[in-house]
Amino acid sequence: MLPMNTILERYTAFILDVDGVLVKGSEPIPGAREALRRLKEHGRVVLLTNNSTRSRDQTARRLSRLGFDVSPEEVVTSSYVAARYLREELGPRKVWVIGEAGLSEELAAAGHPLVPPEDAEWIVAGMDRNLTYEKLAQALTGLLSGARFLATNRDATFPTPEGLLPGAGAVVGAIEGMGFPPEQVVGKPSAIAFRIAMEVAEAEPERALMVGDRLETDVLGAQRAGLATALVLTGVSRLEDVRRLGIVPSWVAEDLPALARGHASVP
Ligand SMILES: [Mg+2]
Repeated sequence: MLPMNTILERYTAFILDVDGVLVKGSEPIPGAREALRRLKEHGRVVLLTNNSTRSRDQTARRLSRLGFDVSPEEVVTSSYVAARYLREELGPRKVWVIGEAGLSEELAAAGHPLVPPEDAEWIVAGMDRNLTYEKLAQALTGLLSGARFLATNRDATFPTPEGLLPGAGAVVGAIEGMGFPPEQVVGKPSAIAFRIAMEVAEAEPERALMVGDRLETDVLGAQRAGLATALVLTGVSRLEDVRRLGIVPSWVAEDLPALARGHASVP
């Protein structure tokens, strides 16, 4: 154990995952609201989530309703990363979405026209809880007409209070199974997600701490991007996974409140 400020004062920015760090299902993790407030006293906070079903706005509103002090400008979703990446790399592009409303909202907000699949330059995929055979057939039509394929993320599963449900990886995998692997995957662990989070945080990676619950996405991606990392044990990964996967974070803390009090250990 180190005194509180020894850990927090090393960093000017905190990049936090949402599911498994701030909330579990639709419930705040106990003490997480106060912990978020405390971290904001030490630096900038950006929430970086692979959840592509919501826009930044929708994510901030949902968290505000749960009592978190969060504005849309502090949120980076994989839907926003996809929209911003396409815009920055290629300019406005005609897109067709296989995913939920938040993804379409971010793409439209970034100036990408939403068009029928056969007219699309890019098929953009996210988690879709209304996935059908018909939608896959439409995606195929677009891809056979020459569209390129961008995936928001390929998280295999999505945690809910009732257990795990299929994540964006199920949608991406179905399209891949038709012979079209994604040309780009922009969410965590991709460097693109962390670069955009750093831009939004106006921070340098060397002074930023990524806090997440998944070693393979939050911790591995952040390490590749040059950030320090903290694993919290309120979500997917357990302490024994550190050795099993060989992905070793800078810090391990019981939960976000413990980390915000400086109660973290070096694994
Ligand atoms: Mg998570």
